[in-house]
Amino acid sequence: MIMAKLIIFSAPSGAGKSTLIRYLLSQELNIRFSISATSRKPRGEEKDGIEYYFLTPEEFRRRIANNEFLEYEEVYKDKFYGTLKREVDRILAEGINVVFDVDCIGGLNIKKVYGNRALTVFVMPPSVEALRKRLEKRATDAPAVIENRLAKAEYEMSFAPQFDVIIHNDDYDQAKAEVLKLVTDFIDN
Ligand code: ADP
Ligand code: 5GP
Repeated sequence: MIMAKLIIFSAPSGAGKSTLIRYLLSQELNIRFSISATSRKPRGEEKDGIEYYFLTPEEFRRRIANNEFLEYEEVYKDKFYGTLKREVDRILAEGINVVFDVDCIGGLNIKKVYGNRALTVFVMPPSVEALRKRLEKRATDAPAVIENRLAKAEYEMSFAPQFDVIIHNDDYDQAKAEVLKLVTDFIDN
């Protein structure tokens, strides 16, 4: 029996992870998105149980105490994000590959647990200035939130060498093609 695999995407906010993951999920691949839990509020059109499981900070802490997370991080001050063990186990048990959108530390921690069954992919933006433009254009975050995210970008980029693969998301069509080939090859082998 072929074991289902894990594909982990990390990048600074605005680099294009969600866009590339959405593209992958639209392809005829046997993959499903791991819905994380977070204590941040929904933004834009986000719905509970689709993009995230939105929890109160109290509920999030309760689940930490209950050992329900495969990994979790306080990605931004007072904003917790984490992968629920149950979410991942449920998908893998169905023989479906799992794709993750997690921060760098979370991504590397999942790799530690699953080893060669997991592929870590770092999405590299052309520059921090390009990130700023993308986040401003996306227009889902307040200016202070954008500054906060940009301040963390250089730090996150310093983790790139620890990832299995770096995808440069400059030209979107090229990045899409690269990601599709990469994930197809990983799943098939
Ligand atoms: P992340 O999930 O990494 O925070 P998103 O996927 O939301 O980033 O992308 C941030 C913004 O940048 C979105 O508005 C998206 O449409 C845009 N974007 C993604 N890839 C590119 C690209 N290659 N060139 C220009 N804009 C892009
Ligand atoms: P956003 O608020 O833009 O949705 O996500 C902010 C950051 O949190 C992104 O870097 C995203 O990858 C990360 N993130 C989302 N879910 C998880 C998770 O389950 N665990 C960890 N460690 N990071 C996550």
